[in-house]
Amino acid sequence: MTVYRFTCVICPLSCSVEVEVEDEGGRVKDIRGFSCPRGKEWALKEALSPRRVVMTVVRVRGGEEPVVSVKTDSPIPKDRIRELMSYLATLEVKAPISVGQVLVDRPLGLETRVVATRSVRR
Ligand code: SF4
Repeated sequence: MTVYRFTCVICPLSCSVEVEVEDEGGRVKDIRGFSCPRGKEWALKEALSPRRVVMTVVRVRGGEEPVVSVKTDSPIPKDRIRELMSYLATLEVKAPISVGQVLVDRPLGLETRVVATRSVRR
């Protein structure tokens, strides 16, 4: 049995939530400490398949700036972050770039898009 302990980040109450997961089969045995359904759902996801939005920079060719800040437009599985960061470290995009522009659609087959969070002029 593995017990995951989280501080819920959904609202300022910051409830302490514990999720007990069976080591074989990954079934949830118990969940306690949440005060609302949203917190319960968040803690279950954190225990069973944690996801994060990734923020980083990508190199720019021919721009006023050498890099552009980017982020995924949805959270990706936590265990794929390193792979995505390595991929983005090899990427170079061409200026001009506008804020919100999709730079990569479904990188590495992930269900997300990498978008620019600022503009870079030529
Ligand atoms: S469990 Fe519900 S009430 Fe508690 S911090 Fe999370 S969202 Fe807020």
